[in-house]
Amino acid sequence: MVERSREVAAGLRAVRRRIASACAEAGRDASGITLVVVTKTFPAADVRLVHDLGVGDVGENRDQEAARKAAECADLALRWHFVGRLQTNKARSVTRYASLVHSVDRPELVAALGRGARAAGRVVGCLVQVSLDGDLGRGGVVADGAPGLADTIAAEEGLDLRGVMAVAPRDADPDRAFAVLPDLLAAVRGNRSGVDVVSAGMSGDLEAAVRHGATHLRVGSAVLGARALLG
Ligand SMILES: *Cc1c(COP(=O)(O)O)cnc(C)c1O
Repeated sequence: MVERSREVAAGLRAVRRRIASACAEAGRDASGITLVVVTKTFPAADVRLVHDLGVGDVGENRDQEAARKAAECADLALRWHFVGRLQTNKARSVTRYASLVHSVDRPELVAALGRGARAAGRVVGCLVQVSLDGDLGRGGVVADGAPGLADTIAAEEGLDLRGVMAVAPRDADPDRAFAVLPDLLAAVRGNRSGVDVVSAGMSGDLEAAVRHGATHLRVGSAVLGARALLG
């Protein structure tokens, strides 16, 4: 346990250093970046560890696992982020613990999340996940569909439209892929206020995401180590 704690602390330190130097190079203030530690496949004990190391935001990609861990860690002041593909029949459960759902990519999901949020008496933040290469197999809407989906979220009681999320396409240069993010955010924002979140960047490409305006980095393995294959 002590050893694990040292290992996670070292991973977190290294990631925070990477973020600080990426911000310095990009002329950005590191206070504009939220590190979401993606804890999927790791035990609730690791969630406690990162919390005790000063992390306030954790991310998960499967409802069953996330719901269990959120319950086990209910005594901790943490914001839970849902970052994975979300089935409509799991939406209600997610609205019970998630502060921000990063992976909203279709109107039926908006409706289901809205019903869940209202039933839970909560307001749940939502990001429009955009597919940067049009490969919808990994989730996301095509860029042209993002503003319409944003309008649907904004009109749904119980949901709060906060911005956009993207995953860099496989085998693509993340700098080229992420270069469209500021325009995508502007398109999703329209003339609304409070739509200012860009969720992009993972362990392998967080520097590129910082260069292109990311406000939320979703980092798993660089903090917690390699995952078992199922993750
Ligand atoms: C797993 C996951 C991450 C974290 O990936 P790492 O490469 O481990 O940092 C980020 N975003 C999403 C959507 C994920 O599923």
